Amino acid sequence: MQKYYESDAKLGDLGNCRIAVIGYGSQGRGQALNLRDSGLDVIIGLRPGKSWEKASEDGFEVFDVATAVDMANVVMILVPDELQGDVYRAQIMPNIKEGDCVMFSHGFNIHYGQIVPPPTVDVIMVAPKGPGHMVRRVFTEGGGVPALIAIHQDATGKARQIALAYAKGIGATRAVVLETTFQEETETDLFGEQAVLCGGMTALIQAGFETLVDGGYAPEMAYLEVLHECKLIIDLIHEGGFTKMRDSISNTAEYGDLTRGPRVIGPEAYEAMEEILTEIQNGEFAREWLLENQINRPVFTALKRQGEELMIESVGREVRGLMPQFRNLSK
Ligand code: NDP
Ligand code: MG
Ligand code: MG
Repeated sequence: MQKYYESDAKLGDLGNCRIAVIGYGSQGRGQALNLRDSGLDVIIGLRPGKSWEKASEDGFEVFDVATAVDMANVVMILVPDELQGDVYRAQIMPNIKEGDCVMFSHGFNIHYGQIVPPPTVDVIMVAPKGPGHMVRRVFTEGGGVPALIAIHQDATGKARQIALAYAKGIGATRAVVLETTFQEETETDLFGEQAVLCGGMTALIQAGFETLVDGGYAPEMAYLEVLHECKLIIDLIHEGGFTKMRDSISNTAEYGDLTRGPRVIGPEAYEAMEEILTEIQNGEFAREWLLENQINRPVFTALKRQGEELMIESVGREVRGLMPQFRNLSK
C-alpha cells in the first residue's frame, strides 16, 4: 500500500479553495475544526437544527447545503450515509461546478452507485480511521488519527494533491495516510464493523454474559469479567498485538486462550463471516439497508430497542455507577 506522511502533503494545494463541510456531526465537527486550525477556509452546510446551532457556537459561518456548495469548490459530504443520496440529488448536484471536488469519508454511496457525480469533478475519499471526537482530540494534542485516501475521479489532475492536503488539514499525515480504493475501503469497513468491531464484539460479549448468568453467577460478576475487562485486554492487543497481550496475562489464561478461543470462534463463525462478506460484495447488504431506510427503519428500530433492554445494559449502568472513573462520562 502507498503510504504518505507530513512531508508528502502541502496545505497550499487547498490554499485557494473554500471547503464546504456538509453536516456537523461526529466527523463534520472534528474535521471542520481541524481544517480551520490548519488555516484553511471552511464553511458549513446544514439544515436548521441542533448541528446548525453547534457550528455557529463554534464560530463557523453556516449556510443551507445548496448555498454552501455554491460558495465552495471543495465539498466534503458528512451527512449520514443513508441520507447522502437524497441530499446530493436535491441540494449538492445542482450547485456543483466543473473543476470542483466532491469528497467523502466513506465510500458507500459512490461504490454502490447512489451518488454519480459528473465526470468534470474530482471525486475523492479522505476517511479518518477513528470517530470524529478522536479526530479532534488527538489533533489538539498535537497528533493525528490515521486516514485512508482514494481517488474515484481525477478530473483536474490534482485529485491526489488535494486529498493529501485535506488529510494534512485534519491532522492525518501526522500519523500516516494510506491510499486505497473506494471499493476496498467500503467493503472492508462494512465487514469490520459487522463481523468484528461492532457486531461480532457485542455478540461475543453478550454470549459470554448470558452463559455466566444462566450458569447461576452474579450478573455484576459476569459484567466485570466479560465486558469491563475487554478494554484492558484490547489496549494490550492494540499496543503490541496478540504477543504483548499474551505476555501480560497469566500462563493459565494464555493456555486457556490458545486452546479454547478457536472453539468459540469455530468453523460456523468462519462460514458466517464469509456469508457476511459475500452480502457486502454483491450489494445485498447495501440494498437491504437502503430499502430499510425507505420504509422508515422498522427492523432497525425494533432491534435497537431490544438491544437497549438487555440485562447487560442495566447491570452495566449499575456497576459503572459504583466506579468513580465512569462518573464524568456521558451514559
Ligand atoms: P453524524 O450522524 O454524526 O452527523 C450527521 C450530520 O449531518 C449532522 O450534523 C446532521 O445534522 C447532518 N444532517 C443530517 N441530515 C441532513 C440533511 N438532510 N441536510 C443537512 N445536514 C444533515 O454522521 P457521522 O459523522 O457519523 O458520519 C458522516 C460520514 O462520515 C459518513 O459517511 C460516515 O460513514 C463517515 N464516517 C464516520 C465515522 C464516525 O466516527 N462516525 C468514522 C469514519 C467515517 P442535524 O443535527 O441537523 O441532524
Ligand atoms: Mg463504517
Ligand atoms: Mg480473569
